[in-house]
Amino acid sequence: MNEYLKPLPCIDGSNRPFWEAARQGHLVMQQCSACAHVRFPISHVCPRCLALEHQWCTLSGRGTIYSYIVYHQVYNPAFKHDVPYNVAMIQLEEGPRLFSNVVGVANDVPKVGDAVQVVFEEVTPEVSLPRFRLCGVDAQSA
Ligand SMILES: [Zn+2]
Repeated sequence: MNEYLKPLPCIDGSNRPFWEAARQGHLVMQQCSACAHVRFPISHVCPRCLALEHQWCTLSGRGTIYSYIVYHQVYNPAFKHDVPYNVAMIQLEEGPRLFSNVVGVANDVPKVGDAVQVVFEEVTPEVSLPRFRLCGVDAQSA
């Protein structure tokens, strides 16, 4: 594995379950114990009912592309070899949205509304990043 020089998450007590699950190939998020709301980003209280208690639930990893752009400008030098690259907001089946990338296809292929499935890219021994592949597209190197 080449040295990974892009920004990495600061793994701490509040987000460790997310990153440990990602390393195992699972997408998990907090689910409120009081109202069952699934939330992301990680927070100490439920944004819907303000309850403190939660459990981590494993999501399906399925979603759709809610919004999608292709970056041609280098905003962070760590990504200078990646342009042009895409950034997608993924609408997950369970409700939350997260920013990620659509991998495995050319940047002009993904469209808003396309069905996607999470995949994990191991970038360091501790960190695997959730990315998304179009459903129905054969796996190929990203
Ligand atoms: Zn709640």
